[in-house]
Amino acid sequence: MVVETKIWRDLVTIMDNAAFDLMAELKALVGSADQVDVSDTTIADHAYDWWPVAAKWRQNGKMPCKPDAVVFPADVKEVSAVLAWANEKGVPVTPWGLGSSVTGQPLTEYGGVTLDLSRMNRIIAVDTDNMIVRAEAGVMGGDLEDHLRGMGYTLNHSPQSLYRSTVGGWFATRATGQLSSRYGGIEDLAHSFTAVLADGTVFDTLDLPRMAVGPDLRHLMIGSEGTMGVITEVALKIFPLPEYRENETIKFPSVEAGKDAMRAIMAANIRPALLRFYDTAEARHAMQDKAFSSPVMFVGSEGMEGPARAEMEASRTVCAKFGGEPIGPEGTEGWIGRRYDFSTIEGFVMRPEGVAETIEISNNWARIMDTYTLMTKRLAPMADEVLGHFSHVYTTGVSLYVILLGEAKDGPEAEERIKKIWEIAMEASLETGASISHHHGAGLARTPYVERSLGAGLDVMQRVKDALDPNNILNPGKLGLRRP
Ligand SMILES: Cc1cc2nc3c(=O)[nH]c(=O)nc-3n(C[C@H](O)[C@H](O)[C@H](O)COP(=O)(O)OP(=O)(O)OC[C@H]3O[C@@H](n4cnc5c(N)ncnc54)[C@H](O)[C@@H]3O)c2cc1C
Repeated sequence: MVVETKIWRDLVTIMDNAAFDLMAELKALVGSADQVDVSDTTIADHAYDWWPVAAKWRQNGKMPCKPDAVVFPADVKEVSAVLAWANEKGVPVTPWGLGSSVTGQPLTEYGGVTLDLSRMNRIIAVDTDNMIVRAEAGVMGGDLEDHLRGMGYTLNHSPQSLYRSTVGGWFATRATGQLSSRYGGIEDLAHSFTAVLADGTVFDTLDLPRMAVGPDLRHLMIGSEGTMGVITEVALKIFPLPEYRENETIKFPSVEAGKDAMRAIMAANIRPALLRFYDTAEARHAMQDKAFSSPVMFVGSEGMEGPARAEMEASRTVCAKFGGEPIGPEGTEGWIGRRYDFSTIEGFVMRPEGVAETIEISNNWARIMDTYTLMTKRLAPMADEVLGHFSHVYTTGVSLYVILLGEAKDGPEAEERIKKIWEIAMEASLETGASISHHHGAGLARTPYVERSLGAGLDVMQRVKDALDPNNILNPGKLGLRRP
């Protein structure tokens, strides 16, 4: 026993020395030693994101996903040096924007280095001739939008997390925003980027409007959740601020009717920037009226006054065919004023016994009601309130966003309940032919379901991963890709 203890002590000393050497090597790769942080506070700050399960871990005193060190690179050269080093040593590296992921995307199951891009926060250039803004990946979205607004421009990318997420994070998660029916998701608003591969190779996608020279390499990184490379700089499209905006609130006799109206609006090639539709349960929250008793649609048109007015009139006409009744702009405008407010859900997440979750998927028009009906029915016993809305609309289909709010008896029960909610929601999506995510990504929450969702596509993704990151150092274990 004594001998065993001695051997163990020797081993620990050897490991400590090895870890010490690795830290010293890491510090030598960046400009100053304080860019490598192993303090308990910084490690804990990077051990939880906004995934409600992670919030329960924190409240229940658990820290299952923690990095060994957090590195704050100052530029692309440092990112490249850290990656080349980590690749050689086999150290996992997980990029971190602002940790606003709601699915555990930046949480590391295998320790290693978390690469926090918050020091890379320069807005590089606003090019109003080519309508592009260039920024480092760690710029907070809201800072960039405010800067552009001061110059009379906008990104037209408006996620609810605008003021808590980075532009690099948007690319890495395939984010989308509240104006997507007109302007699209980040895949449509992305112009180009610079990224660093696992071995330290830096590459740029070309700064051109379009080209036909092979597959679009931007899609190697867009939605890759930090598994294929680290994005260090992005260029995004910009738009002039609209000169005119008009809003309408339209109530509907049923969820089916409102859904059909949205489909008809898209099919008629009408593109209101804002197009959101709430079931009755969520309409009470969205309208801030507990007595509100029907599903409701928020519609907003913007741009030059003439076309925007005509577009709104056309939307009203289509909605009327499905029983839609306009009730004035107030409901929609009230929501616009609160569009970045997350306090209701946050209030539940922050209480140890609180149960809150948001789950978004997409399906085509023919199947979306199957998903809505099955998911809300099966989830009903899991929370006090189950709310649903449709907020990203395409000619080919639509997203469904389900919110659950409730209470458990204590923290551990709340954690188990939220995990069960994920199981039920993912099974209902797969059973009804829906995607398992529309924009929050896979992270830890959905990784177990990726194989069933993508089928042979996962093998193709694995081959790309093997080619770009053969030592599997970049955010390992995510997206259903092979675990280390
Ligand atoms: C209140 C709230 C509202 C939200 N609303 C929306 C919404 O409307 N639309 C939407 O799409 N999402 C939304 N989200 C989710 C989240 O904000 C987005 O996924 C966002 O894009 C994440 O950005 P981030 O910078 O915080 O990235 P993080 O959460 O730090 O990281 C997310 C993933 O991206 C990777 N990553 C981050 N930066 C880089 C980089 N530079 N290079 C490579 N990989 C990187 C990480 O490794 C991780 O896998 C919301 C979240 C919250 C908390």
